[in-house]
Amino acid sequence: MDRVASRNQDIVLRELKGSGITLRMKREDELHPFISGNKFRKLKYNLVRAREEGALTLLSFGGAYSNHISALSYAAKKYGFRAVGIIRGEELGTDLEETLRKNPTLRFAFENGMRFKFISRAQYRDKEDQHFVEALKEEFGHFYLVPEGGTNALAVRGCEEILTPGDAQYDFICVAVGTGGTMAGLINSSKEQQQVLGFPSLKGDFLTAEIRKHTIQKDNWSLINGYHFGGYAKINKNLISFINDFYHQTTIPLDPVYTGKMMFGIIDMIQKNYFRKNSKILAVHTGGLQGIKGMNDFLMKKNLPLINI
Ligand SMILES: *Cc1c(COP(=O)(O)O)cnc(C)c1O
Repeated sequence: MDRVASRNQDIVLRELKGSGITLRMKREDELHPFISGNKFRKLKYNLVRAREEGALTLLSFGGAYSNHISALSYAAKKYGFRAVGIIRGEELGTDLEETLRKNPTLRFAFENGMRFKFISRAQYRDKEDQHFVEALKEEFGHFYLVPEGGTNALAVRGCEEILTPGDAQYDFICVAVGTGGTMAGLINSSKEQQQVLGFPSLKGDFLTAEIRKHTIQKDNWSLINGYHFGGYAKINKNLISFINDFYHQTTIPLDPVYTGKMMFGIIDMIQKNYFRKNSKILAVHTGGLQGIKGMNDFLMKKNLPLINI
């Protein structure tokens, strides 16, 4: 796989008028239609390693709407691996046909040839426990294990390729944070005078340690914790209307779990004068748009407004 770069798109918003701020989005979501955004970056060197090790099967973990599972299933098909997804939620396995009918993410993965094993939430917490992994080897044969969310040293290395030399002009690099692997890659490849701001999409006290584990000695980064909207995949009307309005103004779709929360945070911080005048901000669009369908099914059931993208 060659080294690729995505474009930086100017963001023109009425909320930014008069702020003197330059805001651009790095459209990593456009890298590939199905191996979206940062998942492309995170898989790249893992696939290379899996091939070197002679593995025929990739195995990984995820929730029922996971962007990572979706991307991995397609990447496995494209590069000639079998794929196994260990999915949180035992109940989803009782009637697979029904599950696939209702869940667009798992349906897509299934159509790409991924096999599933559905496990309880308790088991899921211990999923990387050695005994469980051994049992998986008995069940599925030898495999290359890609951790949940795809974060390991090779994934971070892939994410170090997101920034290009031209991106040195930005004062701030912003990114949504799940496990922190993508942010770690950005930190490693950032310039000393740049600040890397991570917007966690969940309440995660573990994130600082996780990011330190994957970064070289640097202190030009911080986590902005006020924009998780109550936790992972939690959403409210405010966030939905922000995403819809942002799309209306820019034609850039944001996902509700990660990039929507990050952009909401950036705009809010601009309005609260967090950034000094004439700052140049680069926000990384990490993709995740496949998750909109599943989220809209959920919103419909709750009688909440839908994401109109
Ligand atoms: C997975 C994902 C993230 C989180 O990436 P980490 O490296 O786990 O922090 C951010 N944005 C999107 C759209 C994602 O799918």
